[in-house]
Amino acid sequence: MDKVILGKTGIEVNKNGFGALPIQRISKKDAVYLLQKAFYNGINYFDTARAYSDSEEKMGAAFEYTRDRIVISTKTAAQNAEDMWKDLEESLTKLKTDHIDIYQFHNPAFCPKPGDESGLYDAALEAKKQGKILHIGITNHRIAVAKEAIESGLYDTLQFPFSYLAADADLEIVEMCRKAGMGFIAMKGLAGGLIHNSACAYAYMNQPQFAHVAPIWGVQRERELDEFLSYQDCPPALDGALLAEIEKDRKQLSGDFCRGCGYCMPCPAGISINDCARMSLMLRRAPQEGWLSPEWQEKMKKIEGCLHCGKCMSKCPYGLNTPELLAKNYEDYKTFLK
Ligand code: SF4
Ligand code: SF4
Repeated sequence: MDKVILGKTGIEVNKNGFGALPIQRISKKDAVYLLQKAFYNGINYFDTARAYSDSEEKMGAAFEYTRDRIVISTKTAAQNAEDMWKDLEESLTKLKTDHIDIYQFHNPAFCPKPGDESGLYDAALEAKKQGKILHIGITNHRIAVAKEAIESGLYDTLQFPFSYLAADADLEIVEMCRKAGMGFIAMKGLAGGLIHNSACAYAYMNQPQFAHVAPIWGVQRERELDEFLSYQDCPPALDGALLAEIEKDRKQLSGDFCRGCGYCMPCPAGISINDCARMSLMLRRAPQEGWLSPEWQEKMKKIEGCLHCGKCMSKCPYGLNTPELLAKNYEDYKTFLK
């Protein structure tokens, strides 16, 4: 079973981490089953967030009696110390634990530091002193914030989008973390649903230069979990067939494409930007029927009501021209309805 040491934290986790965002979408019973199946098959690292509705509660229910045998990270999107304390207490209660192993600032637009106006870092330090959190981490989608966090030396871990579609700038972040002795937690290892070959995704992450990278796979279905579990005993080799697959994906998914992160939301016109702005890709890379349903047609039609306010563009960490991307995807979508 491949293991990862999360930098200076010294925490050792299974190379398969469990991203608990998608369990929001399934029943509590199914979520508990999935989480416990993961645990009893060797997965020992589970990542969630205060913002993932009932995900923490489901994890609390799954691990009430095995808490000391797993590593938990969660996140706060608080913008000030007072709200962070509220979030932390809520997370501890929902997760049925007295401590969080890695407590992360959830994609802040800036890098919290001691003595800054937000008071976030000082509050986290105090929580660490009280034993409520063991390590301080940060998650981000912005290269600049991620770099600042690494260079600051203030953080034990960085959670950042990383898959075999990574650009050179992303690879630089991964390498910077390694040099700084920071744990690198890879989110979006399947590029938000655009990568379908989990063997390719696992094999890519399992290369020696990424020995410090801990992917957290967003798992919702048992068969998805089973795929990742199967790689523990038989790790897929990054050989000719898988490399060819990766190359094909890289060609198809190069350039300015929407990663589906949703940081541009909400949209005042009610557009589900994170799905609609990558519809062309989804139609070509997944079974089409679901995306062509009356419900999705309705959602896509909302693009006609775009106010061109630019709010989405200003929040997109990838610098995308989102309204333009939406318009292109809508035109393409209509051709599938003919
Ligand atoms: S520009 Fe259009 S899509 Fe973007 S936030 Fe404004 S209304 Fe929504
Ligand atoms: S447009 Fe940008 S911010 Fe919005 S979902 Fe896509 S990648 Fe994320």
